[in-house]
Amino acid sequence: MSLDWITPADRLRTLPPYVFARLDELKARAREQGLDLIDLGMGNPDGATPQPVVDAAKIALQDPANHGYPPFEGTASFRRAITNWYHRRYSVDLDPEAEALPLLGSKEGLTHLALAYINPGDLVLVPSPAYPAHFRGPLIAGARIHSLILKPENHWLIDVSAIPEAIAREAKILYFNYPSNPTAATAPREFFEEIVAFARHYEIILVHDLCYAELAFDGYQPTSLLEIPGAKEIGVEFHTLSKTYNMAGWRVGFVVGNRHIIQGLRTLKTNLDYGIFSALQSAAEKALQLPDVYLHEVQARYRTRRDFLIQGLGELGWSIPKTEATMYLWVPCPPGVGSTDFALSVLQQTGVVVTPGNAFGSGGEGYVRISLIAECDRLGEALQRFKQANICFQPQPVATSSD
Ligand SMILES: *Cc1c(COP(=O)(O)O)cnc(C)c1O
Repeated sequence: MSLDWITPADRLRTLPPYVFARLDELKARAREQGLDLIDLGMGNPDGATPQPVVDAAKIALQDPANHGYPPFEGTASFRRAITNWYHRRYSVDLDPEAEALPLLGSKEGLTHLALAYINPGDLVLVPSPAYPAHFRGPLIAGARIHSLILKPENHWLIDVSAIPEAIAREAKILYFNYPSNPTAATAPREFFEEIVAFARHYEIILVHDLCYAELAFDGYQPTSLLEIPGAKEIGVEFHTLSKTYNMAGWRVGFVVGNRHIIQGLRTLKTNLDYGIFSALQSAAEKALQLPDVYLHEVQARYRTRRDFLIQGLGELGWSIPKTEATMYLWVPCPPGVGSTDFALSVLQQTGVVVTPGNAFGSGGEGYVRISLIAECDRLGEALQRFKQANICFQPQPVATSSD
């Protein structure tokens, strides 16, 4: 029997091709050939979840009260832990009943927010490059995307003044993310003030993804959208426990901010899922209450790797400015080489996996993203292989992209 009639809905067919797929295929082939892969391609933290969090989960697992359906909107206790953490961290007060909602990881919420707010044909502003959920969520909802192309000469910040008036008037939502995946760019407080003023003027819902809230170095403190006066009237901010606490597999995140925006997401989610296993919410509470010394350890780990890799790449002729946050380096390809070709050739010649920048949208063309998710001995091995293979890291003027 022919199965031609089993066709996915248009909302799946409109998604751009998955750039990681070809890379995955080549990775599998390289592994079959016995090549020792060094995978710096994913955003998957390599460390263990802190022991106090694991211990809290074990205790919570033994409690039958946690074995039934969790409350839709998350446990009252986890919501309070979120708003307490938020107050401690940013001195902003939030109502745990209405201004905080636990999520099955922030990716889930970022995507579902689009389904909750976008009608087919609605216009959504999304930077390029961006974390894929920021444009794939709206595309699934049927949005028209207006890409805000980010440029190195603007330090990868959105240039609000370059958005045409007609586009700004029509836009319904703007997604953004600083410290940024993939560019590792950070945004000063004035940038947040500017974007809040823009969104208020044009009545656009602001969606900020602050998943690298704590992965910042050398004293740099990322700004929260909700620290900006007036932001809570038009915006929400997504957080995750995946990165800071090495909890990517647990699937715990949350959204905070405007109660009406959160209410729409909650209504959608009560029709889709039952929320997070209560025992995990109890463990997640513990994570948010960990003493700062834990944060300092995580930060030191990524900072050491950052310094090691930037120095090593510098010795190969590749000058990369020091990043203030995230677990990534955003690195220009050799002049005239596209990001997919470059990532594939690095993989074939050295067994080192890096992510082509165009996986994050056309604005990422000409760059690759390297994740700091291996210890320095493995990063050193990667550098050694780059050197041996004579991977062309020509010094080139900053602020040039090959496309
Ligand atoms: C890793 C990452 C996420 C995903 O977080 P989860 O909570 O694990 O779904 C969201 N946004 C950005 C920018 C990320 O890099």
